[in-house]
Amino acid sequence: MVNFLIFGPPGSGKGTQSVKLAEKYNLMHLSTGDMLRAEIAAGSALGKKMSSIMSKGELVPDEVVIELIASKIDNTKNRAGFLFDGFPRTVAQTVALEKMLNERGMKIDSMLVLDVDHDELVKRLILRADQSGRPDDADPAVIENRIDVYRAKTEPIIDYCRQKGIYQPVNGVGSIDEIFGRLCDGMKTFLTR
Ligand code: ADP
Repeated sequence: MVNFLIFGPPGSGKGTQSVKLAEKYNLMHLSTGDMLRAEIAAGSALGKKMSSIMSKGELVPDEVVIELIASKIDNTKNRAGFLFDGFPRTVAQTVALEKMLNERGMKIDSMLVLDVDHDELVKRLILRADQSGRPDDADPAVIENRIDVYRAKTEPIIDYCRQKGIYQPVNGVGSIDEIFGRLCDGMKTFLTR
């Protein structure tokens, strides 16, 4: 299996592009944000605990998302690989993911990082609030906090992956199809379709 991280700040387009990439390359798309929102929608005990953290734009504890991902990895059949979206978000999550994959004879093959400048991110998230109905998109202070948390806790993963030689930056500004094309170019050396 071939495993990709799709990476970038909130609003960089990870979710939109992941759905298209997963379909094109038969990848299992795993979004921890989607999984957590599903817990909230189902009214589970975990969802109730996580919703206040998420509505402030903070990260939920590492062990929560690691557990969510672990439960999916072994249940995935007939896919070319995994596409991790919004996970890992800390270096500790990255180390945990590598360990889970290594134990199963796999690795993170490539990290695709969508580059989008700050003003464009804020613009997109405010626009998205209307359609997404997400409370963390509706409040400009929460948006700024999510971007700050990304810079402080998530971005260090880029250096970690650069040292491993798996970092691939991608220009994240343009039309959805243009950006999709750039991501496909970055992925296709690893995949045959
Ligand atoms: P976005 O990329 O737009 O910020 P996500 O849907 O990936 O949105 O995540 C929404 C929220 O869910 C995050 O702000 C955070 O509170 C929580 N979350 C999602 N994934 C993780 C993760 N891997 N680690 C910690 N918190 C997470």
